[in-house]
Amino acid sequence: MSDNLDVVVLGAGISGLCLAHHVARAGRKVLVLESAAQPGGCFRSERQPADFWFEMGAHTLYNSYGSLLSIIDELGLRDRMLTRQKAPFRMLVDGKLRSIPWRLSLPELFASAWHAFSERKQGRTVADYYGRLVGRRNWKRVVAPLFATVFSQPADKFPAEMLFKKRTRRKDIPRSYTFAGGVQTLTDRIAAEPGITVRTNAQVHALAREDGGFVVEIAGGDRVVARRLALALPAPVAANLLASLAPEIATALSSIQTAKIESVGVVAEARHVHLPRLAGIVPVDDTFFSVVTRDVVPDERLRAFTFHFRAGLTLDHRIDRICAVTGLGRDQLDCVATHSTSLPSLSLGHAGIAKEIDRHLPASGIYITGNYFGGLAIEDCSLRSAKEAARLLAEAV
Ligand SMILES: Cc1cc2nc3c(=O)[nH]c(=O)nc-3n(C[C@H](O)[C@H](O)[C@H](O)COP(=O)(O)OP(=O)(O)OC[C@H]3O[C@@H](n4cnc5c(N)ncnc54)[C@H](O)[C@@H]3O)c2cc1C
Repeated sequence: MSDNLDVVVLGAGISGLCLAHHVARAGRKVLVLESAAQPGGCFRSERQPADFWFEMGAHTLYNSYGSLLSIIDELGLRDRMLTRQKAPFRMLVDGKLRSIPWRLSLPELFASAWHAFSERKQGRTVADYYGRLVGRRNWKRVVAPLFATVFSQPADKFPAEMLFKKRTRRKDIPRSYTFAGGVQTLTDRIAAEPGITVRTNAQVHALAREDGGFVVEIAGGDRVVARRLALALPAPVAANLLASLAPEIATALSSIQTAKIESVGVVAEARHVHLPRLAGIVPVDDTFFSVVTRDVVPDERLRAFTFHFRAGLTLDHRIDRICAVTGLGRDQLDCVATHSTSLPSLSLGHAGIAKEIDRHLPASGIYITGNYFGGLAIEDCSLRSAKEAARLLAEAV
């Protein structure tokens, strides 16, 4: 049992760690509880074989991620930043890699493009809004698969206004970047900050109020007591944990759907790979939503491909599909890694759900962050965490 804790944060993904960063910098003692064996959540940089890394989840940070960049600056991490080099995405059509413009119908695109001047995003789904902009056939053949690649799930029903927000770009930072060791270098560094303790393999399974604070029960029987409670968990997990503690918030959270993503990453010697240099592959109606490569930070010896699969296939079937797409034999795979995660499946009306959560939070002693407020992008997580940290610091006595 830990005492004298100011804040306990549940979930050590980027959202929980950004919140912990701000609160710890203000002098509060923070414990982060994480069910997995390592912090990071969707930030998972697989570091094998020796001296090599590749991404199993998030992969790209941008110079428009201003809130995240202020944390990177505070951590002195700029010297580990690596520019992502340009490489093309290709579509996988009938077993062949094709350029994306090759699949677009240009007459349909030109006939639809005038909609760009009159269409509004508000209250429209992604399929409705972008379908009008590019034409229905182009939407189906090209743009819908591209969106599914970005969000690792069909994104047709997402609210159009939640995507592609205008953000200011920092000119002193490469347009897109990662870190030596992968994006997980960032979460590892936050987790090691003074004032923050991260406890892994700590699955939280119950919450209660006690003496003006909170008791957090961890699977295996341990419990933690803290004055303030911050949740940075997938929405369904947060909903379950808050069911009796904050029923209105739990009800709102439980209406957020999620999609499961099963990722398999493989590494092979560059001499065995005959695919051209690629940033990624966009499939059309396949068992996976996207392939992300390490080619944007090229390595002389090795290449890596991470396939983000739909739920439901066996690992064996997935490896068969990976071999078919990459042209590699099983005996040429130097390493196979797996990772499971989930992402919110946003739909119209989502902004109302987020507002409903926020309506019940003030003075509850509870703080909630995650990728289901402003949006799924890392910067949306960072902005939400900064906002909740500021509320916590202002409310805490
Ligand atoms: C494949 C993929 C690629 C992506 N690429 C990009 C990209 O390039 N750029 C970008 O901007 N965004 C990208 N995103 C989106 C972005 O990475 C995520 O939205 C963001 O990282 C989510 O962070 P989070 O902390 O909110 O959630 P998570 O990372 O899901 O963290 C939640 C944490 O809670 C833990 N947890 C769950 N239950 C419990 C429990 N009961 N007790 C304790 N801990 C628990 C989980 O183990 C997890 O570590 C990508 C997402 C995916 C899946």
